[in-house]
Amino acid sequence: MDLQFYNSLSRRKEKFIPLNPGQAGLYTCGPTVYNYPHIGNYRAYIFEDILRRTLKYFGLRVNQVMNLTDVDDKTIRDAAKEGLPLNQFTQRYKDAFFADLKTLRIEPAEHYPAATEHIPEMIDLVRKLLERKVAYQTEDGSVYFSISRYPKYGCLVNLDPQQLRSSGRVNHDEYDKESVSDFALWKAREPEDGDVWWDSPWGPGRPGWHLECSAMSMKYLGESFDIHTGGVDNMFPHHEDEIAQSEAATGRQFVRYWLHCAHLIVEGKKMSKSLGNFFTLRDLLDKNFSGRELRYVLLGTHYRQPLNFTFQGCRDAKAALERIDDFTERLRRCQDKSLEDNNQQFKSVIERAESDFRSALADDLNTAEALAALFNMIRDVNRLLDQNNISSQQSNKLLHLLSQFDSVLGVIEPDKKEPVPPEIERMARERQEARKQKDFARADSLRDQLTELGWMVEDTPEGPKLKRLV
Ligand code: AMP
Ligand code: ZN
Repeated sequence: MDLQFYNSLSRRKEKFIPLNPGQAGLYTCGPTVYNYPHIGNYRAYIFEDILRRTLKYFGLRVNQVMNLTDVDDKTIRDAAKEGLPLNQFTQRYKDAFFADLKTLRIEPAEHYPAATEHIPEMIDLVRKLLERKVAYQTEDGSVYFSISRYPKYGCLVNLDPQQLRSSGRVNHDEYDKESVSDFALWKAREPEDGDVWWDSPWGPGRPGWHLECSAMSMKYLGESFDIHTGGVDNMFPHHEDEIAQSEAATGRQFVRYWLHCAHLIVEGKKMSKSLGNFFTLRDLLDKNFSGRELRYVLLGTHYRQPLNFTFQGCRDAKAALERIDDFTERLRRCQDKSLEDNNQQFKSVIERAESDFRSALADDLNTAEALAALFNMIRDVNRLLDQNNISSQQSNKLLHLLSQFDSVLGVIEPDKKEPVPPEIERMARERQEARKQKDFARADSLRDQLTELGWMVEDTPEGPKLKRLV
């Protein structure tokens, strides 16, 4: 089965053919470490994690690079506001970011290059662009990319070449499509930069944000590589500028597949720092949602569909995960049986689940469909379990299949369970005993006591089960 991705560059789905057979080079634009990421940012990182895990599921060896933007307009501005040296200020947010990745079960990338540690590579790239005459220096010691000297400018976001005229120069890292401009590769030192500057052939200054990603991606993945990703807001100017700088410098195609995720929105608007309509991961943990639950919310919608964030969505995720947990626990409790007559039925359930799951992911990472394949299987197997028609060998097969699915989804494995205190276990046993003796009054009173202590007893065909009340 072929993997297919929607390529923003060609604006259609394409079969994924890696440059080097069996390997995939992947560059994912990382966080600007000036604040705690909001869960909109994590939608992008979860989508990229699913992409990474899917490539591996399809047998590819992945080399993923995620940069850390630790010098740009925003980091400098906010470090100065706090009166902290830039590296001390950004370290706090780097640490928080890595802690969040763990909570959200995001697999680590192979490389996390920080911009401040790659200034020589960036200077080198600016030098090449000046040599090729697609960049020019200004009197203050800045260097700009000249879009009029690069005819392919606008290929990613489909700007009309006839209309393409630079509206001047822009030295901010962020600007919009209405102001297509020559953009800064190297920014001459300004008073507000304080002591954040490096020496260069053009005088003291610092790199532009777009240049950072070009230099770091090509350093770790080569001048031409397979996949580059980000949120749709990164397409312009960030990714458009990356293509221009990199291809003008090397004369080669920079990236073969561009993948962009749609936004996480709140009441119709993009979740963003500037609008103030955001939640951080910590905000949600404080509201008693787990990283696993949030991960489920973020991957439940296909990455190219806008995802409307609601607390109801988080509660639904909790319920869906509980269904998965109940199912895996049921499988673990299965007793051995000889079930010759049922083997065919079992085999077809497994085969369908496996093939539906795989084809959903192959079709441009359709996680919503992949989850549907999982829940269809749970429904079918639950029916067989109700009829006591699953042997322990079969249940082991199913558990193995679930762990293969989980190598992509990362939500099936339950959180480490809180151990049941011996006193609670004793009460549950006593209640079970009372039920056997048909002393229902005593059984009910023990159930009430357990509830008061924060534990729920659930009577299942496999016996009573204790659950912590949230
Ligand atoms: P930033 O730290 O602003 O550079 O953003 C990091 C990543 O998060 C980028 O890939 C952005 O495109 C992405 N991003 C920012 N806001 C959202 C959102 N509301 N929904 C999805 N992705 C987002
Ligand atoms: Zn980037």
